[in-house]
Amino acid sequence: MVCILYRTHFVTGLAVGYLLSGSLEMSAISGVAALLPDIDHPGSYIGRKIPVIPTVLKWTVGHRGPFHSLIAALVAGAIALIIGGKAIGLAVMVGYLAHLLGDLFTFSGVPLLFPLKFNARVPLVKTGGVLEKLVVFPALCVGVVYLIGNPLVKTFFARL
Ligand SMILES: [Zn+2]
Repeated sequence: MVCILYRTHFVTGLAVGYLLSGSLEMSAISGVAALLPDIDHPGSYIGRKIPVIPTVLKWTVGHRGPFHSLIAALVAGAIALIIGGKAIGLAVMVGYLAHLLGDLFTFSGVPLLFPLKFNARVPLVKTGGVLEKLVVFPALCVGVVYLIGNPLVKTFFARL
């Protein structure tokens, strides 16, 4: 089973990235970074684009294994920090964490504390289910539009 739909992850990453930075560019980076954890599944959005790596990862470490952990979020953020600097590293890490947070609300949960064999979960959403498609995703979209269009949010970041 693939995790929550990629578009839900993308919009969650956008929202978290914008909340963190108040910047559309950083928000976009967080949105893309929110797709990264599913590199361990060939049926995911990113997996369909580059099927070899996800296929190998699914066979070796499994879907929702180490790539769905806090360690992986830190590593992804550190790699992005080295390549692009502090702001991009932070944007990638929070986008990655946004993905983990989304998957946390599914019935399978995620191994946040990998290598400990424990899946953290708050089982509220069935992947690709009616709740995700008709409530969660539209609510996230409205939230992102509200955040980006809200002058109070921009004012807050202008003071930082
Ligand atoms: Zn996932």
